[in-house]
Amino acid sequence: MTTEEQEQIEQEAIQREFDALLDDYRQTAHRQKIDIITRAFLFAKQAHNGVRRRSGEPYIMHPLAVARIVVKEIGLGSTSISAALLHDVVEDTDYTVEDLESIFGHKIAQIVEGLTKISGGVFGEQASAQAENFRKLLLTMSEDIRVILIKIADRLHNMRTLGSMPPEKQYKIAGETQYIYAPLAHRLGLFPIKTELEDLSFKYAHPKTYAEIEAKLNADKAARLDFYENFAQPIRDKLTSLGYKFTMNARIKSVYSIWKKMSTRQIPFEEVYDVLAARIIFEPSMDMSEKDQCWMIYSAITSIYHPHPERIRDWISTPKANGYEALHVTVMGPEGQWVEVQIRTVRMHDIAEKGLAAHWKYKTGEQDDSELDKWIKTIKELLQHPEPNAVDFMDTFKLNLFAQEIFVFTPKGEIITLPQGATALDFAFLLHTEIGLHSIGAKVNHKLVPLSYILKGGDQVEILTSRKAKPQAEWLDYVTTAKAQSRLKAYFRRQKHNQEMRGEEMLKTALQNLGLTEKRDTIIHKMMVNNHLQQARELYQQIGQGAISIDNLAALLKPKQRSIFDRFFNTGNKDDDSIVQTEIDSDDTSKKPKDNGKKAKHIVLTEANLNTEYELAKCCNPIPGDEVVGCRNADGKIIIHKQNCETALNIKAKDGKTLLTAEWNMHRLMTFPVTIEIRGIDKMGIVIQLLEIISEKHKINVQDLSFDAVDGIFNGSMHLRVHDTQQLRQLFDEIQKIKEINSITRVE
Ligand code: MN
Repeated sequence: MTTEEQEQIEQEAIQREFDALLDDYRQTAHRQKIDIITRAFLFAKQAHNGVRRRSGEPYIMHPLAVARIVVKEIGLGSTSISAALLHDVVEDTDYTVEDLESIFGHKIAQIVEGLTKISGGVFGEQASAQAENFRKLLLTMSEDIRVILIKIADRLHNMRTLGSMPPEKQYKIAGETQYIYAPLAHRLGLFPIKTELEDLSFKYAHPKTYAEIEAKLNADKAARLDFYENFAQPIRDKLTSLGYKFTMNARIKSVYSIWKKMSTRQIPFEEVYDVLAARIIFEPSMDMSEKDQCWMIYSAITSIYHPHPERIRDWISTPKANGYEALHVTVMGPEGQWVEVQIRTVRMHDIAEKGLAAHWKYKTGEQDDSELDKWIKTIKELLQHPEPNAVDFMDTFKLNLFAQEIFVFTPKGEIITLPQGATALDFAFLLHTEIGLHSIGAKVNHKLVPLSYILKGGDQVEILTSRKAKPQAEWLDYVTTAKAQSRLKAYFRRQKHNQEMRGEEMLKTALQNLGLTEKRDTIIHKMMVNNHLQQARELYQQIGQGAISIDNLAALLKPKQRSIFDRFFNTGNKDDDSIVQTEIDSDDTSKKPKDNGKKAKHIVLTEANLNTEYELAKCCNPIPGDEVVGCRNADGKIIIHKQNCETALNIKAKDGKTLLTAEWNMHRLMTFPVTIEIRGIDKMGIVIQLLEIISEKHKINVQDLSFDAVDGIFNGSMHLRVHDTQQLRQLFDEIQKIKEINSITRVE
């Protein structure tokens, strides 16, 4: 064959493919804009002239194939078809978006630009680059959904022709398809495309397993079709006699879905019972609702075959988030096997096959806030509050792509869609960010549950809030939706930032008050070293949070003097079991710090010298283990305050000379009063449960308690007597394990 002959054959093949595209287009309900499609085709053909795909065919065959998928399998119109024909022009030739805009107008050029932006593939070399690309993809998608639909068509054709790629590329492209494009197609309601993408990905990722399952499917084929005919005939007869216009087909499960079932259930191929399903697509009559007619067909079928009571799926009353509607029923076939029958109208079928595009076609024009529109709105919202960390963002988003949905109800009966595994807290955030941030518990089917409660389909959920409630760090562990996660993270980021600012300010003021502003850097450095911190910001944050005290800043500058005290008291106390410790007044002058006529600047607090040498301040009620400071009052008495006590801070600011450092050396001989507050969900017996833990298990004396409950939330206050902070902490840890307890705090 000469080159000219070969050229001739190729040109004919290209023309045939284009004619087929126009045929596909003419069969749609779209307006007949053959002209722009033809111009786009001729332009792209000329632009890609001389370039071949890896398979050897002229490059233009690829955009043509993508355009055909766009019209035939997704059902889009002339703008999308033209954009599909032009989708690789900017990426692969010398033409620019501006060139396209001047020839084809703004809309088409914009879609091509979107496609060019995301052409790099979601998975670049680095995780962060991947995630950035992914964000771009979502951004373009939320601007014009057609971009992603064409991108999916592009990917589908590349998957169909993946065989001509080298194996390592096959592997990567298949992985990416499985990871992001199949779920996206699913979310957009493109069910057959999703199935094909999954199947093809699986085929290239696990060629051997794929071949095995395919062989088994083929081996059973004849028997399966026989069985199907026996099963279907009585149904066909019945529906015909009732006057329905319908088609009934056998559906064979895809290799990938079979494999998925085999691996999740850990069963052999032979035990996958639903390899075969039947699908009835009917034209509803106008005088009755589609829903009623579906149930009438259900009734007709179940008068022949017995239905499985737990396998009815009503996607008509509550369509899936991707718009899917149908009635699924599983019945016992003639030979005792379960067979699923899907019942759909033509409209429902169209939506199931072509997803979004079909969905819009059937839009009534009235207020339409379909689940899909809501989903796209969610994406937009997520993009408006993106995670600073792009990888996190991708994970957050992916959570929602893969999730299967459940439907739950608000107290007013409104339906809310949530991913499977979502908690009451997710629900709260879905209602409103403010509700999420202030929630304290929930009622599910009128029963009180904690926020971590995992919702089930059909639950009726009511969120209980309190203006005082604040998010807890562990909340991040029990939210699963992207929205709740991103809002919580934003909250904690904000909180951290505020703590940083506050801490920095506190430190500044303290240094000013002590006249140590010049020593700022030294002090910050020392504090960072002492607390094993790398960054000043972390230090500020911990100061702002109250985790690091700034009460002894001056001491940081006098390491030697401090260490004399430290060494003295440490050696003095070590291995010393005697209860009474009175170093301050010890007769052993060799151990006594040099007094030089001044009063001691340090005190060891023991049971023995309590109320003789020191008293515990009534204003802040310190207990052993608290960070404390001593203040010598006018009578020479030492009063022990908590370091953050207002009174102590006051004295410190005005008369720093009267301050003493103090340390505890207690032996659990005495108890000290503390007040705690407990908040949570009011369930039966919660108070008894708390008392059991406190007095029985921890042997802590409860002196007084008061509880009240409003709207299912209780507030409790208790006066306890404890040995020290350690004992209190152990108690808190235990109480926090009770699901219904929302917060437990010590009252300052
Ligand atoms: Mn392409």
